[in-house]
Amino acid sequence: MTSRVQTTLTALQYSVVEAVRVNIETANDYFGKTLVVPEVRFDLRGKSAGQARFEYPRAFGLVKKASPVIRFNRILMEENPQAFINEVAPHEVAHVVANQLFGRKIKPHGQEWKMIMRSVLKQEPSVTHRFDVSRASPKSYIYSCECHGLTHCLSAIRHNRVQRQQSSYLCRNCNATLGYTGELA
Ligand SMILES: [Zn+2]
Ligand SMILES: [Zn+2]
Repeated sequence: MTSRVQTTLTALQYSVVEAVRVNIETANDYFGKTLVVPEVRFDLRGKSAGQARFEYPRAFGLVKKASPVIRFNRILMEENPQAFINEVAPHEVAHVVANQLFGRKIKPHGQEWKMIMRSVLKQEPSVTHRFDVSRASPKSYIYSCECHGLTHCLSAIRHNRVQRQQSSYLCRNCNATLGYTGELA
């Protein structure tokens, strides 16, 4: 087995980075500004498709300008490539534009963000997405032991091992074998 460090973007990652850049340019044309192009990462996990973050570096006690970062959920992106390019990228870019134009005190999905979505990026300002998150956010399986009020959370892989009687797991506290009690969505 060789492990490979990924240094180049996949074709899809490249397309999403490009969509971010194009949306920033659209906002630049609209407002007559030169906005900062955010750094793009593909390290978001869980149920969210994307996240815009603003890191405020401090130098000599002064808060400098925010450096925007957009994080995308790689698993959801690979399952919904077109929606990420057409919808998720502009949604997150609108946060970056709103932050640069209006500062950090505005509401995340407030009127400034909605205006940028509608008037600038020509998008429906919807806050939720409709992606199937089952692979990005796997179910947990709840087990109990003999400790009062204590439950244990097992991954699907461990749960399947228990069900196939290939493994059993002990509570570190009471040493009892964990018993399956149910599924948590
Ligand atoms: Zn948002
Ligand atoms: Zn226990």
